[in-house]
Amino acid sequence: MSVPMLSIQGDNGLALTRLHMPRILSSVANEVTSLLLLDFRELHDAGDVLPIQGAVDIPRIAAENQQVIRLAPIACDLMAIGTAGICRVRGHLETLLRYECSRCLEEYDSPLVANFDEQFSERVRQDDVHLVEGSQVDLTPYIEEVVNLVIDFRPLCRDDCQGLCSVCGTNLNDHRCNCDRAVQDPRWAALEGLLSKDEPE
Ligand SMILES: [Zn+2]
Ligand SMILES: [Zn+2]
Repeated sequence: MSVPMLSIQGDNGLALTRLHMPRILSSVANEVTSLLLLDFRELHDAGDVLPIQGAVDIPRIAAENQQVIRLAPIACDLMAIGTAGICRVRGHLETLLRYECSRCLEEYDSPLVANFDEQFSERVRQDDVHLVEGSQVDLTPYIEEVVNLVIDFRPLCRDDCQGLCSVCGTNLNDHRCNCDRAVQDPRWAALEGLLSKDEPE
């Protein structure tokens, strides 16, 4: 690939390339953190408009989703805007996931892009506003929630993945086997036995 590699490399060894995260500046992308803070005072001092950018590593997402082998740090390109005691944080999240295909069990990488749009306040009680204590909020739990919502629960390495042979376990995307799968599956065999008894001779 001739595209220069801007890599955010976490401990888990999965790197995001420039292809997967065109919006994030290289200066912030070099640093991977475990927190991404929204600071109300900093926002106020900045005139109520503050960019929040960074790359957060949330290994728990892979730990809690068995179809996710691992994921790269999540590149966050967000903008915080304060109005009337409420801070709205909007933007994009991007990462690269390594899934285990739910049919053939092979691992494959897939980019993930999600919109982020959450509101926070220290004092305004409203249904769609997260009421927070203190002048800083760690956005990581909210980022985790958004990513968990867009993760594929039955990932497929490709739409027409042929899966594994139920008899010999061959990956049918790579090889054909000569197994007679319809008969060899004991559940079907039992069913066929029943059906043939019912059939008039
Ligand atoms: Zn597959
Ligand atoms: Zn087979």
